[in-house]
Amino acid sequence: MNLMLFGAPGAGKGTQAKFLIEKYNIPQISTGDILRAAIVDKTAMGMEAKKFMDAGQLVPDSTIIGIIKDRLAESDCRNGFILDGFPRTLAQAEALNELMENMKIKLDKVISLNVPDELIVGRITGRRVCSKCGASFHVEFNPSKKENVCDYCEAELIIRKDDNEQTVKSRLEAYHTQTSPLINFYTKMNLFIELDGTKEVNEVTKDMIKALL
Ligand code: AMP
Repeated sequence: MNLMLFGAPGAGKGTQAKFLIEKYNIPQISTGDILRAAIVDKTAMGMEAKKFMDAGQLVPDSTIIGIIKDRLAESDCRNGFILDGFPRTLAQAEALNELMENMKIKLDKVISLNVPDELIVGRITGRRVCSKCGASFHVEFNPSKKENVCDYCEAELIIRKDDNEQTVKSRLEAYHTQTSPLINFYTKMNLFIELDGTKEVNEVTKDMIKALL
């Protein structure tokens, strides 16, 4: 199963990806997580990407497409994968189509988690993420079992540097101007499924599993 989770920042893509990993036993490919790991490792790519991420802007397509090309070639992607936060521009979507064509694989579904902008700021500022595995929680809507401890790997939960009110505005703007044209792109490919991302986490999961039957 080759899936893509689509939606604005804070729509719940990372949270829902965790359920899909367990259900289908396929990896989550989050370009945001890969970039954050590169920043921790202080690679040249990570240091360059950090400037864009801290400003709430998209990292250049060439960097992102290179990351995805390498990641999809890894053996754990052979039975499928969940794209989370990629693609975010038309150029990335076109590059992905070409890459998948060369690999002789197809996307099965693009699942969009729809959440209006008014709810996004509250979701992002209450978000806590695992410093080790990247799992996402929310202090109010999706709290971890133990405060500030990840349910999955027990590492410490932190607030992402770009999860503040100011940066969220830029990220939402990037979403509306650069990413939302992909709705049309994947609708034309007959892959686009829209879900109500404002429901409770487990309700969204149920809707998603139903949509994938
Ligand atoms: P995310 O964790 O998906 O919210 O991504 C965090 C940040 O990483 C974004 O605000 C961008 O700066 C950068 N980023 C992640 N994925 C992409 C992508 N596909 N294209 C461009 N920038 C990206």
